[in-house]
Parts: sequence; C-alpha cells; structure tokens
Amino acid sequence: MTARILVVDDIPANVKLLEVRLRAEYFEVLTAHGGAEALEQCENGAVDVVLLDVMMPEMDGFEVCRRLKADPATAHIPVVMVTALDQASDRVRGLQAGADDFLTKPVDDLQLMTRVKNLVRLKSLTDELRLRAATTRDIGIAAMLRGAEETDGRPLALLVEPDAAAARRFRRLVGTACDVEVVADPQAALFFAAEKGCDCVVVATGPSEHDPLRVVSQLRALERTRFVPIMLIVGEGEEGRILRGLELGINDYLVRPLDGNELVVRLRGQFRRKRYNDALRASVSQTLEFAVTDPLTGLHNRAYLDTHLKALVARAADRGTALSVMIADIDRFKAINDTHGHDAGDAVLREFAARLRARIRGIDLVCRYGGEEFVVVMPETPAGLAGIVAERVRGAVAERPFPLPGGGEIAVTVSLGVASLTPPGDAVAALMKRADSALYEAKNGGRNRVVAAAA
Ligand code: GH3
Ligand code: MG
Ligand code: MG
Repeated sequence: MTARILVVDDIPANVKLLEVRLRAEYFEVLTAHGGAEALEQCENGAVDVVLLDVMMPEMDGFEVCRRLKADPATAHIPVVMVTALDQASDRVRGLQAGADDFLTKPVDDLQLMTRVKNLVRLKSLTDELRLRAATTRDIGIAAMLRGAEETDGRPLALLVEPDAAAARRFRRLVGTACDVEVVADPQAALFFAAEKGCDCVVVATGPSEHDPLRVVSQLRALERTRFVPIMLIVGEGEEGRILRGLELGINDYLVRPLDGNELVVRLRGQFRRKRYNDALRASVSQTLEFAVTDPLTGLHNRAYLDTHLKALVARAADRGTALSVMIADIDRFKAINDTHGHDAGDAVLREFAARLRARIRGIDLVCRYGGEEFVVVMPETPAGLAGIVAERVRGAVAERPFPLPGGGEIAVTVSLGVASLTPPGDAVAALMKRADSALYEAKNGGRNRVVAAAA
C-alpha cells in the first residue's frame, strides 16, 4: 500500500522524524512547515493523509483542519492531529474541527503505522466511491459522501467482553455513538457476527482463559464476516498481542484505560469504512448490470453490443460460418411521442422489444442501439435466412396495434435493414454500415419493409 502523506509541523526536526519513519514504510512523504503551506499542498491534490501538528504559530492545527474540512475540494482528505499533550480538551477541539484521528507526541511507531494505514485504506475507498459517483451519478453514493451516512440508522458494535463491569463501562463511554451488543463468549460472538451482522466487532483481552485473537482469526476466515471491521482492546504492555492482531487483520486497537473521545473517534472511523465498503460492493455489482442493460426495455445496450459483436464476428470469420445483423428502426416514432406523449412512446418501445425478442432465437444477440433503433446479431445465419427473420419481425409489429398506457391503441410499423458477413476479412464497421444503408433504403422505399444489403 503506497500513499502520499503530508507531514505538517513548524519544527523541522519533528517533520524529519516522521518523514524518516514513514519513508521506511515506503510511504511517499510531502512536508509543510506551516498552515498556509499545508493548505496549498492539499489544494494541489494528490495528498492521501495529513499528519497535522496542533501547535503552530500564525495558524494552528485546528484552524488548518477546519479549513480543509470546509473546502469541498479537500474535505475528503483524512486528517490526523498530532497533539503534544495528551489532553482530552485537545481531542474535543480536534473533533470539532473535523479531525479523523489523533496521535500523541512522542509518536509511537506502532500507532503511527496503524493509524496511517487505516486512513489510507479509508481514503482509497472514498476515492473509488467519488469516482463512481461522478461517473455513474450514483445518488446513494453521492449522498453518502456528503455525510448523509450519519443519519441513516445507528450503527451496531459487537463487544466481545467476558467482564460485565468492563462491558458496562464501554457502554457508558460510547454513549449514543452506536448501539452495543455485548457477548461474553467468543463463539457466540462469531455466531452473532455471521448471522445477524454488525458494523464493528470489538474484542477485549482480559484475564479469561479464552484467547481473544482466536475469534479474530475466525472472523477473518468466515465468508460472511471477512470484511467486518475489528478493533482490539488491550491492556498496558500487551504489544505482542497488538502485533499478532494486526497480522491477523484487526483494523485498529486501543490501550486501556479507555478514553471516551478516542473510543468514539475510532469506532466512527470503522463504521464509516464499513459503509464505504458495503456501498462499493453494492455499486460494483449494480454497475456491472447497469453497464450492459437498457433499463427501459431490459435488452442489452449498445456498449454490450459493441464489445460482443467484435468477438462474434471474429469467431464467425475464424470458423468460416455465416453471421448476419439486422437494424430495426420504428417508423415515424417521433410522431407517436408528439401525439400521445413520451410515456406512450416508452410503452411502444417496451412492447416493440417484447415482440422483437419473441421472434428471434435465444442465441441471437439483441440490443437497443439507441432511441428507437434496435440491432439483432444472428450467428450462423446466412443472408437468406436473416431476411426471413426480419420479415417475421416486421409482420409481428404491423399485424396488431400497440396498446397505449392511457387506454386505446396505435398502429406501429418498423423498417429493417439486413446485412451479412462476407468473409474473408469483413470488418465489423463495414458490416454495420451495409445494414444501415439497407435500412436507409427501406425508409426511402416507403417504410414498413425489409431491405437486404447486397453482399
Ligand atoms: P423515421 O420513420 O424516419 O425513423 O422517423 P422517426 O420519427 O422514427 O425518427 P426520428 O429519428 O426523427 O425520431 C426518433 C424519436 O425517438 C426522437 C426521440 O425524441 C425519440 N426517442 C428517443 N429515445 C426515446 C425514448 O427512450 N423514449 C421515447 N418515448 N422517445 C424516444
Ligand atoms: Mg424511426
Ligand atoms: Mg431513428
């Protein structure tokens, strides 16, 4: 995982210290020695995470953070506040300024790497979602990125904690930030996470004989819980367990005694990450389907045709088999819209698609090519046969009027152009061009007819 980290501190030695450690982990490091310089670097783009010193002359870290979060161009960049004093009030102020995480000086190596890696992962999810929202105009994603995520339902944390008093304390600390389900037995927790689901599993170490890391490895092994965020809560001096946990795939950890603000910040980060992950996965499967389907008719769309026609033509040329295409264009369709309205036009398109599909074979590739234009690719079909199929389609459209949504009906006709592959070396574009010219002839010849292109 490589990413660009901006280190902001007014003291050059502090900058150097963080820079060296981050570079050792193969991060790319940018540096700034004051707030104004930091803002400028972020605006120029390509910053993945900001490590921001709080105490700086001229503009302090809180102000820098506030400005970053207020600017839509930089609001999505995660900010880690580096506070000199371990003061709760600093954390509260940081939170109010919109900080995503905290580190306390002197900065612990393990904490530095865990936090930075976490935020880099979160940032790459956000970037991917932003890209998708921009390209697919996915409303759900856009709303989520604007922060609507906070409002839809309270997240659920599953706390694996055998100690009842500790569980009560945990509940009190998270307050209203999320719902908490407490499970004492790790196996029951695994079952709960797999069956009911949750937004984060918090595993506490304790004096019990259960190995808390076993449930972590089990969660990561199960298909249904593989992606759930996991947070480990350890006692002082349990670094070994943290390292082992990180290897097993925990996303974050906290050391007792727990600080309420810190706990809430870390949980929120994990909830957000889970939501992004879920949205991304949903969007991927949706995009895959949307990318190839025309929503109005349920037929394949032009993009699908463009990728598959090439392969079908190549295969036919390869095997020396026939292949024909037909382009169908509804006659005077504009007049249907103009006279009966756009909804009537849509209904006609749907009905047309249904009649078309009913008259062709399952192996034929049928798609809506554009407005009221449809293309059918017929493998292993020579010109003569393709002409017969086209005539069948024309008849199926003209034989019965189309029902209109508001009642009533309307007569519809279609013109069709047919062309066939002429090996060797016939190109897709040439084939489509011949079909299109044939269609043009059919229109000119009076519509409601089939014209086959000369081979
Ligand atoms: P021709 O017989 O020469 O093909 O005439 P036409 O009116 O069918 O052709 P033209 O290309 O002039 O008009 C096509 C119309 O189809 C224009 C456009 O507004 C309409 N159209 C395109 N897509 C849709 C759609 O999804 N729904 C509806 N209702 N109309 C559409
Ligand atoms: Mg038309
Ligand atoms: Mg047209």
